[in-house]
Amino acid sequence: MIIAVDGPTASGKGTIAKHLAARFGLKRLDTGALYRAVGLAVLDAGGDPGDEAAAVAAAEALDLGAIDEDRIRSSQAGLAASKVAVIPAVRLVLRDAQRAFAADPAGAVLDGRDIGTVICPDADVKLYVTASLEARTARRLKELQARGETISFEALKAQIAERDERDTNRAESPLRQAADAHLLDTTEMDVAAAVEAAVGVVETVRG
Ligand code: C5P
Repeated sequence: MIIAVDGPTASGKGTIAKHLAARFGLKRLDTGALYRAVGLAVLDAGGDPGDEAAAVAAAEALDLGAIDEDRIRSSQAGLAASKVAVIPAVRLVLRDAQRAFAADPAGAVLDGRDIGTVICPDADVKLYVTASLEARTARRLKELQARGETISFEALKAQIAERDERDTNRAESPLRQAADAHLLDTTEMDVAAAVEAAVGVVETVRG
């Protein structure tokens, strides 16, 4: 069983994907982590995430097992991720890595922006998870504050809106709900309610 979970930043898709993987005994790939790791690698090398040659080289050198799960969570890495993510050649390199992960006969849960539309268009279950910009900003602010980052609600909201804009309007694999994806709006839901709703969708589809 392949489960595709797509949606904008801080919509709750990562948390939902993690719980679905545990619940149904599947491995999970946070595909945003790949773009973050590539963006961070370019920054670490003193480069510009918008520089195609540097970003493609970083994508080709990416070792899925060696991603620094803590450092990629910074807002700086998130912004760099959304810049490398507009480069088609970067997406091509990462597409192969994602499809190889999804090819496991045991199945998998993948979460990102284009899993249901481009990476795994034949996924058994597709979820499109979203929430209002305000709700997503509040969630991300909590996460960043827990990391010790100081940023105002308004500044973060503008940053997330900028990222949404770039993800939705890019030419290559833009963020959009697949025609056969189930919409889950988590604005008014806590984690338990969102996970329960997602499990419900998977169980209904599986029959
Ligand atoms: O989901 P997360 O915020 O970690 O993703 C970081 C950035 O990586 C996104 O803003 C998006 O630009 C990019 N991304 C993507 N396709 C994916 C996953 C993430 O373009 N499948």
